[in-house]
Amino acid sequence: MSERVALVTGGTRGIGAAIARSLKDAGYKVAASYAGNDEKARAFSDQTGIPTYKFDVADHDACTNAVAQIEADLGPVDVLVNNAGITWDAPFHKMGPDAWTKVIETDLSSAYNMTHAVWAGMRERGFGRVINISSINGQKGQFTQANYSAAKAGLLGFTKALAAEGARKGITVNAICPGYIDTDMMKAVKQEVLDAIVAQIPVGRLGQADEIARGVLFLAADDAGFVTGSTLTINGGQYMD
Ligand code: NDP
Repeated sequence: MSERVALVTGGTRGIGAAIARSLKDAGYKVAASYAGNDEKARAFSDQTGIPTYKFDVADHDACTNAVAQIEADLGPVDVLVNNAGITWDAPFHKMGPDAWTKVIETDLSSAYNMTHAVWAGMRERGFGRVINISSINGQKGQFTQANYSAAKAGLLGFTKALAAEGARKGITVNAICPGYIDTDMMKAVKQEVLDAIVAQIPVGRLGQADEIARGVLFLAADDAGFVTGSTLTINGGQYMD
């Protein structure tokens, strides 16, 4: 494989870090972005040799500038993994506009910001892979996650619309819906809630970040050009759409 360039947002921790590592191991030149946890980013970069870039994926101009910098450093982005995301849970009657807007901007508008920055180049070169990390909770909805479920469901519509637009230009656009994966994000979940979640997963455990990375590798491959507009569900059988 020629050395393609891959950019993973939120690529310094959790699922994103596993994706970035797997892509590097497979021969891609990889850049990983993050929001503010410099310590984790430095440790990740020292360990993997993957360069990291700090910017807010919710900020359109910051994304445009960061992509320009990454492309100057590594070359044009061939594979974009829109992975960065946050939760801000609350029952809807207590969900203020900050919780709504922050999650929609970080988890959904970010995909617009990042994809828009690489799209023209992918069209010109006749090749691109965009992989959006959605969630099981975007497929089925989740109590106290009206904001997150809306953002993640929005990513699925975004994926299908862009897949249609990219199809004749050699660009595929796909989504992955992870189930519950053992990362920092899950550390925010109370133990009794976690036990109840695991009880609902037919395979009887949380997923591992590497299991999502395997899906990304498949969708990113040069020979996956006929797979577009799809949603790859990786959830231990918890939700079968
Ligand atoms: P983590 O919380 O472990 O890591 C999140 C990463 O995203 C970090 O690198 C973080 O940077 C970065 N990030 C967060 N906000 C921003 C921002 N505004 N700008 C740039 N980078 C940002 O998350 P996970 O690995 O658990 O989740 C990754 C993705 O997978 C998310 O989209 C999540 O919604 C999705 N997902 C996760 C599931 C799970 O069970 N864990 C289940 C289903 C979907 P920093 O380190 O600087 O904070």
